[in-house]
Amino acid sequence: MNFNWTGEQKALRAKYAQFGMEVVAPRAAACHDQSIFDQVSWTALCGTDFWRQIVPKVYGGLGSNWWDFTAAAEGLASSLSNGGFLLSVISQAGFIRGLAQHGSAAQKEKYFPRLLAGALSATCIAESHSGSHTPAVRTTVTGPANAWQLNGEKWNIAHAPIAEILLVVGRIPALGKRDISLFLLDESHAGITRGPAQNKMGNRSLPTSWLEFRNVPICEADLLGPPGDGLRTLQAILAIDRVYYGLLGSLMVRPALREAHSFLAKRQTGNSPLLEQQHVQRKFADAALALKQSLWLGRAALSQVLESQPQASLSSSAAKLSGAETAIHVARDMVSLLGSRGYQTGTASRLLQDALGFLAVGGTEDLHRINLFNQMQRSADWF
Ligand SMILES: Cc1cc2nc3c(=O)[nH]c(=O)nc-3n(C[C@H](O)[C@H](O)[C@H](O)COP(=O)(O)OP(=O)(O)OC[C@H]3O[C@@H](n4cnc5c(N)ncnc54)[C@H](O)[C@@H]3O)c2cc1C
Repeated sequence: MNFNWTGEQKALRAKYAQFGMEVVAPRAAACHDQSIFDQVSWTALCGTDFWRQIVPKVYGGLGSNWWDFTAAAEGLASSLSNGGFLLSVISQAGFIRGLAQHGSAAQKEKYFPRLLAGALSATCIAESHSGSHTPAVRTTVTGPANAWQLNGEKWNIAHAPIAEILLVVGRIPALGKRDISLFLLDESHAGITRGPAQNKMGNRSLPTSWLEFRNVPICEADLLGPPGDGLRTLQAILAIDRVYYGLLGSLMVRPALREAHSFLAKRQTGNSPLLEQQHVQRKFADAALALKQSLWLGRAALSQVLESQPQASLSSSAAKLSGAETAIHVARDMVSLLGSRGYQTGTASRLLQDALGFLAVGGTEDLHRINLFNQMQRSADWF
């Protein structure tokens, strides 16, 4: 295991850190205040090779180099100061992985060029009644095989108001007990209604909403992966998303660290800057410790996910929990170190609001702790 970046990957990390700082960060406060998706930055990002890194060459990409992509995403996450934009990136990355691993040739040919051109995807799992419990989804496909219809609703879905491509989790009761399946839909499917963007505490530039499906005509060609195998197929998407919520979510709070550091270097107590106080230094040291732990845990979990190792499920839950909790603690400490300035609207307070969302998205902290415990019970290593 060698999780250090090559020279080329370091250059990618630096390039996208600069992109985040120069393109995304200057727009972050306005997008948060107005609750709008940062289309300008998204279009600019899609104009670079960022997404091409994980799209196969035959579909216009550079190959499927998830480590190069992760180096670039780490750079972007560490400087963009916009949790909503980062969640857009993570959601899109998971969708691309699902399409690359489980899509048919026709689906890849249809959707990869659109994704590279900037089309947003939405991964529609949660429903208002089922929430954390995916096996309880009620969205259903009925009718004869040549005239299927999809009916149901989804709730709290990233990009729902504006996504061009939807991955929908539903069931085909005709299959029997193992009936959860995945479907790929786009604007050519009639019968889809989208709700307006919800008003959230943080990640306000990520438009989330509900979707309703009424007699949406679909066919076998719209299935992603085998029918009835939806929960397993979904794992490919969710495992990588979880790692990135932790790994990239913890990097996201770096600008708050820089803001607090530069403030305390100038702010005097008596004759010396506050940065010279040991109590203040300890908070930075604790932040560095937690951020390093989340970084290395995230990279190790990513390695296990990419290699489909048996511990990948436990490690991706651990990476997600560690990274999200670190992001919250570090952002909270930086808000506190900035004194009353920290409590005013600014980068640190905005990142704290964004970080709180990283706990719920992709499964709540309780659900990941339940997964950790279940994985421990199954393994001979622990008890
Ligand atoms: C910013 C954001 C973006 C999102 N984007 C998407 C998306 O793109 N696609 C998507 O499908 N979903 C998305 N979600 C929804 C997210 O996946 C759900 O919010 C999450 O799964 C929790 O579901 P819920 O909110 O209904 O909570 P509930 O399931 O109602 O849970 C409520 C509380 O009960 C706890 N709880 C639930 N079950 C148990 C249990 N068995 N044991 C102990 N405690 C339990 C939970 O931890 C939580 O604290 C997003 C959420 C957020 C915040």
